[in-house]
Amino acid sequence: MTDNLVIVAGGGIGGLATALTLHQIGVRCLVFEAVPDMHPLGVGINLQPNAVRELYDLGITRHELDRVGLPAKEWALVGLNGNDIYSEPRGLLAGYNWPQYAVHRGLFHMLLHDKVLERIGSEAVRLGSRVTGYHKNSDGSVSALIERADGSTSEVIGKLLIGADGIHSAVRAQMHRAQPPIHWGGAVMWRGTTWAKPIRSGSSFVGLGTHRHRIIFYPISHPNPQTGLSMINWIAEVTMDNSDGWTRGGWFRQVSGDDFIHHFQDWIWDWLDVPALIRQADRIFENPMIDRDPVPTWRDGPVVLVGDAAHAMYPTGSNGGSQAIVDARVLGAAMVEHGMTQNALASFDAKLCGPISQLILRNRGAGPFGLLNIVDERCGGTFDNIDEVIPPQERAEFMADYRAAAGFAIETLNQAPPTIPNGAHVRISRGI
Ligand SMILES: Cc1cc2nc3c(=O)[nH]c(=O)nc-3n(C[C@H](O)[C@H](O)[C@H](O)COP(=O)(O)OP(=O)(O)OC[C@H]3O[C@@H](n4cnc5c(N)ncnc54)[C@H](O)[C@@H]3O)c2cc1C
Repeated sequence: MTDNLVIVAGGGIGGLATALTLHQIGVRCLVFEAVPDMHPLGVGINLQPNAVRELYDLGITRHELDRVGLPAKEWALVGLNGNDIYSEPRGLLAGYNWPQYAVHRGLFHMLLHDKVLERIGSEAVRLGSRVTGYHKNSDGSVSALIERADGSTSEVIGKLLIGADGIHSAVRAQMHRAQPPIHWGGAVMWRGTTWAKPIRSGSSFVGLGTHRHRIIFYPISHPNPQTGLSMINWIAEVTMDNSDGWTRGGWFRQVSGDDFIHHFQDWIWDWLDVPALIRQADRIFENPMIDRDPVPTWRDGPVVLVGDAAHAMYPTGSNGGSQAIVDARVLGAAMVEHGMTQNALASFDAKLCGPISQLILRNRGAGPFGLLNIVDERCGGTFDNIDEVIPPQERAEFMADYRAAAGFAIETLNQAPPTIPNGAHVRISRGI
């Protein structure tokens, strides 16, 4: 008996945005999350205007987002000599109707979790419950196989199963049994947060260096009124030989700044001291920059993938979290149109799987940081006059191209009707 239940595997950003969307359109859902306790994990992520629009439509307010991050004002690339290569305004300043937010991933995740519990109820998220696979039943329903933290197992039957279980997705592994292993292109990222004075606009995303050796940093909190210091999220990155594969330990582990600071020892300008930023960090995590090869479909009958389970991609475009939220909303819109049916999943898949798979490959080719590649190729990363290396029009065209591919072209987004019309509900039927 499915009782018109939708099962969501994974309570990360994608799974919780899906749960909030399903609740908004009148669909009953249960989220099964592997970890036994929710903690605010991770460092900074960006929520692009296309995702902030969806969060506002979900009733998440500007004030709530200001508690977990701050609106981004600028995106800038800087050469090894400390000179600007390119900069552009972001969010409202760029002309979007919605801001871009730079947020603490863990605090934002907890905000979504609180909303789910408040709106759907304390039983909505089953912690310590790993989805290990699924059976498609002859009546069109689906059974999710659940393994609890104490080792016990059970099956839960639903009308649909949404795999939002991240880059190591068990749902995807069953759907695409022959998928290749995780892809690592050779870049290693060390991520941390440090309390420091914000620079430039006060909320600027800065990428400095070359495409093989760079640091990225941006504030993810409003400045403390007493100290003037913001929490600065930074990612130090070096590209290495990947011919032996990843041999340095787990995908995500805590490390000391001493392990890698030598790569950035001389990166000191009068406006930035990278070694100090690294030394004064609260905690630092090492993880290789990984993604997965695109798959031809995210759907298998009553089962569909969203978020990183569908399209884990390099963070170069700062859109992994945003796309997970947009997926949830596009899936919700498909259910409003087609009901709680496999047709809804097919419509969602037809709309997003192709273009987002292209984006995975584009981000692999450096995404918007591709400008650094061009500068590196043409002058080795140092220059006096950037216009002589790459003319302003070429820079502007490069970035406009990326925005269009990633779904955040300004005019297109501003003119688009809401993904889910206000008050829209799903017609509950018995068909599949
Ligand atoms: C702990 C953590 C820290 C992160 N930190 C950062 C960061 O600092 N910066 C950044 O850019 N991105 C970070 N990410 C990735 C980022 O959150 C995602 O790329 C993006 O938000 C897409 O979200 P998602 O919900 O699809 O995947 P995720 O955020 O990865 O969420 C997947 C969820 O599914 C759960 N899960 C996994 N397998 C199963 C299973 N078999 N059954 C049930 N549940 C399962 C996981 O515990 C997790 O809660 C982090 C992800 C995690 C899980």
